[in-house]
Amino acid sequence: MRVLEAATDDSVPSISRTIVPAGHGYSFAVSAGERFRIVDLHGQQVVDFMAWARTGRRCHLDEKVSMAYTRYHHYGATPSTGDYLWTNRDRELFRITDDTVRVHDMTFMACFPELYEKRGLRGHRACASNIAEAMAPWGMKNHLEVADPFNLFQNTPLYAIKGNLLSSRPGDFIEFEALDDAVVAISCCPYDLDGFNGGKITDVAVMTGFRLSPRKPENASLESDSTPGSA
Ligand SMILES: [Zn+2]
Repeated sequence: MRVLEAATDDSVPSISRTIVPAGHGYSFAVSAGERFRIVDLHGQQVVDFMAWARTGRRCHLDEKVSMAYTRYHHYGATPSTGDYLWTNRDRELFRITDDTVRVHDMTFMACFPELYEKRGLRGHRACASNIAEAMAPWGMKNHLEVADPFNLFQNTPLYAIKGNLLSSRPGDFIEFEALDDAVVAISCCPYDLDGFNGGKITDVAVMTGFRLSPRKPENASLESDSTPGSA
């Protein structure tokens, strides 16, 4: 039997916390068995989530987490704790292991540069280009290569976009377990129009390095103790 190290135990050296500035993107590698959290620090901030399969330093941009495959396996679009995210190779790449919000969107695309340009906002940051920038070290060339996002903390009742999200509060988070090695990219959505994102865009945090560790058997000797934080 395996248990998760205490989520807030700062003594576990492998846990790290990265602040993603408002309106920007970030990518990070995760390994099979690792858990990580996306934290909405200030509330009502949508985070676009995408991920690709990885082997060592090679990211497989052709195998991505797919919202269409995930919706098919869920018979719908409202996943939460215990559910999986599927790739377009029809395999589970992540499991949702905790979710304090339970309101997310699997139906809308990432905001993209042309969307802003058509509103006279040339040069406005966009989720699609944020993620393309963050994925450039992994071989992504431009924002047309991004996937359909899992829009964390985005409230779209009856698949209609709602300006005032009324979903996530400060400190809310969703936690995933990687079932295989992967690269994750997120964008702290820069859409600051129409009251979306609570009317102002804010920073979010990524916490990585939560590890599963073997539970010590009832009759285990001291020698068999596992090192905290080890896999
Ligand atoms: Zn966006």
